[in-house]
Amino acid sequence: MARRSLVFGGVWIPSRLAGPNLAAPPLSARTDAPIARAVTATAPGLRAARDSPRTRHIGVAIVHLIRGSLRDDLERTAREFKNGWWEGSLGDAPIRLETIECPLCGGVCGDQWGAENGFRCIKCSDCGLVYVNPRPDLAEISHANEVGEHRTAGEVLHVVYKRSRRKALRYAATIRAVFPDLIAASTPVRWLDVGAGFGELVEVLQEILPAGSQVMGIEPMAPKVVDAQARGLPVFQTDLSQIPGRFDVISLVNVFSHIPDFHDFLGRLRPLLTDRGELFVETGNGGDLASMEDYPDLLYLPDHLVFAGESHLRDYLEQSGFAVQSTTRIRVDTAVQFGKNVLKAALGQRIKWTMPYRSPFRRVLVRARLTGQPPRPRGRRASAGVVGRGGGIRTHDPQSPRLVR
Ligand SMILES: [Zn+2]
Repeated sequence: MARRSLVFGGVWIPSRLAGPNLAAPPLSARTDAPIARAVTATAPGLRAARDSPRTRHIGVAIVHLIRGSLRDDLERTAREFKNGWWEGSLGDAPIRLETIECPLCGGVCGDQWGAENGFRCIKCSDCGLVYVNPRPDLAEISHANEVGEHRTAGEVLHVVYKRSRRKALRYAATIRAVFPDLIAASTPVRWLDVGAGFGELVEVLQEILPAGSQVMGIEPMAPKVVDAQARGLPVFQTDLSQIPGRFDVISLVNVFSHIPDFHDFLGRLRPLLTDRGELFVETGNGGDLASMEDYPDLLYLPDHLVFAGESHLRDYLEQSGFAVQSTTRIRVDTAVQFGKNVLKAALGQRIKWTMPYRSPFRRVLVRARLTGQPPRPRGRRASAGVVGRGGGIRTHDPQSPRLVR
């Protein structure tokens, strides 16, 4: 009997089960097809029943369904492959990892600080910075940041979320507290918000900065940009190199932890600032904590790649030609936060339970100004009080990148 089988990514579906009308689709990419394998299973009972007309019709319907679904997946794979980021096949594609040196000091040793979603965080023995290692490679990070989906050892981590009114109110209070002079002055300000999300801060700044001020936001995640623009906000999916003009202030709110190389990033921001331009950086002080036990939330690895303490943030800024003007610390493990966690848990969301008013974790708000001095070469240094427990594991081993569970 002639064999007219279907091929789904190298998996054969026998012709008698597939039926005579189904031609093999032209497939060029590999795929993982556990369902198709299940259909091909030749258990004795199935083999005995499959020649009846009814079974055959059911089989044809199932194969139609599988073929449609797989074709969608294959087209997506082919598209992604053409775009040059994908490696491997669907389903079992390996997450491309790279082992790195400490992004701040270049150190290669550290202790495990925490782990989540198959990734681990190392606390650098030399400077105390906490960073994911091994981490997804830069192409994988870049793609994940654009689509808002991070592949992990388990489920995909979706990080698009929703526009938050509460976040906008918090930003308004933050900006009033950190920039009272700018708000009180009548001088218009040019302000760029990097990592603008749904445009919450952009919207707030448009309301509270002096008349004539210009505000613009950029955001890598396409769904957020679409949402912001639909509400008339100047938020764009644009590379830093494409931004015209210079700005008096550039803000990075909850951006630091997502940036693989903050030195390089600051170097790209510097030309966008006026001569005495300022940076506003908000991030948590995870790098000041002894371990993830003190961290009041999930770590969201590998969306978050680096956790700095206050001294690390200052080192990054000073090495890049900025001087810190002010630092504000705000605790997050409040009774209100505890109440929100109760609500989230009731809604079935994943949360981390922590007792209020116990964590040393703080939101850190830093205002820094360009000094006019050239950047200093980054070097290994030990920051007093945040040094790791010494020795520890060697973290830079290109031969053995792997996920930890
Ligand atoms: Zn280090």
